[in-house]
Amino acid sequence: MRCPYCFIDDDKVVDSRSIDDGSVTRRRRECLGCGRRFTTFERVDDVRLTVLKRSGAREPFDRSKVIRGIEAAVKNRRVDVKVVHDLVNELEESLRNSGDECTSSEIGVAVLDALHRLDEVAYLRFASVYKGFERWSDFEEEASLLTGRSLDKSTEIKEPKDRE
Ligand SMILES: [Zn+2]
Repeated sequence: MRCPYCFIDDDKVVDSRSIDDGSVTRRRRECLGCGRRFTTFERVDDVRLTVLKRSGAREPFDRSKVIRGIEAAVKNRRVDVKVVHDLVNELEESLRNSGDECTSSEIGVAVLDALHRLDEVAYLRFASVYKGFERWSDFEEEASLLTGRSLDKSTEIKEPKDRE
C-alpha cells in the first residue's frame, strides 16, 4: 500500500482487526520508507446486481427466478438440471462482468440465446412467457436477432401447453 506521507509503496502490517461485525478489516500499517503509520480498511466489494425492468423499476437480480423460468421452459424436455444451473451461473457471471446493473431484456435475450442452442421447444416456451415482451413486435425483433430471420405470427408461440 502506498504511503500517504512519502508515497513509497512498501509497508508492513503492524495490527489487523475485524470491525463492524466482521464486515470490515482494519489494518494499521507502518511505512518502511519513512516509518510513519497509516490505516487501511478492507471490505467485500459490493455484490449486488440490479435489474432494470422495462417499467423503469429496479430490483435485485434473483437467480432463482431465472432458474424457475428456465425450468418451466425445459419441463419434460431432455434437459439436465445441472445444465440449467450451469447456464444460469454462466449468465450471472457474464452480467456481473459487464457491470452492477443489467436490463431484464438483456437477461431474457441471453436466456433465449442459450435455450435456442439447447432445445427449440424450450426456447419457444420461454419466449412466450418472457415478461419483457409486452408486444409481439418485441419478441419478433429480438428473436430475429438470434435466428437471423423474422418469425411468422402463426408460430404456435401463444400455445401454453406443448404436447410431445
Ligand atoms: Zn512513508
